[in-house]
Amino acid sequence: MSHAVPNLESVVWEIADEIAQRKDRGEVASYIPELACVDVNSFGIVVIDADGHVAAAGDSETPFSIQSISKVFTLTLALGKVGDRLWRVVGREPSGSPFNSIVQLERERGIPRNPFINAGAIVVTDQILSGHQPREALGEILRFMQFLTNDPSIAIDEHVAASEQRTGFRNLALTNYMKSFGVIENPVDFTLGVYFHHCAIAMSCRQLAAAGRFLAHLGRNPATGHSVVQPERARRINSVMLMCGHYDGSGEFAYRVGLPGKSGVGGGILAIAPGKASIAVWSPGLDANGNSHLGRVALEALTKRMGWSIFGA
Ligand code: GLU
Repeated sequence: MSHAVPNLESVVWEIADEIAQRKDRGEVASYIPELACVDVNSFGIVVIDADGHVAAAGDSETPFSIQSISKVFTLTLALGKVGDRLWRVVGREPSGSPFNSIVQLERERGIPRNPFINAGAIVVTDQILSGHQPREALGEILRFMQFLTNDPSIAIDEHVAASEQRTGFRNLALTNYMKSFGVIENPVDFTLGVYFHHCAIAMSCRQLAAAGRFLAHLGRNPATGHSVVQPERARRINSVMLMCGHYDGSGEFAYRVGLPGKSGVGGGILAIAPGKASIAVWSPGLDANGNSHLGRVALEALTKRMGWSIFGA
């Protein structure tokens, strides 16, 4: 018996319809006051397949705060700058702790578990910053996003950056603490300034899915033909995303979705189906681990219906 290949476009539309009916929307992040203003009913999804076909539904063109999804791209940049020396100052093991946890840092002498928890991402940002002024480092990160998407309109939402800068006491504590171990090279306020601003980059699902394409295609962006990283590096970034991309919900995400992914507290998730597609979803309501609740539900439905889990059907 032969099985018809599901039509991507209709699957994406079906999922958007199902999500629109759901009442369990999660809670919008409120610890960054500006993020609390976002409508919890927003939902967007974009899938770009290997041939460049775009399947989109919902609020797919609305820019949202990518927050921790930016950490995939800062990791890529920092590996490009310092190579494997990066792994001297940050690990690559799942943390099993909340995104902003401080306890593990004491036991592990200021070396964060992985580049996607806040402490680890702050170290990665610090590595990008070394030898530059904050403005230059931030410009480099933003230009990288524009280069990946071929879209010069991508920008930082200054309100979100300022909102987090005013209230980011825990990130300040984490950074000071790591500085006391000599892990942070630059002035704490410089490193955090760059960190808060790259988390505040605003992108739509369409832009985000475009930015992730190099990770789905062995380091090469099929849209531009640019080789962004070597295939081995793309593979490794994907494995860090699989193991660590959803904080202490990473196991649950791998179990349900079965793809490398990275979430952000703005409600976005970037997921990579290697060789098949780059996927961005956005639903601002979060679960208890700070990951998009319905974003995960949508991705679970997508991988199931398309047979895209890296672990097979
Ligand atoms: N800018 C956020 C913070 O540092 C990022 C957290 C996230 O998106 O998970 O708290």
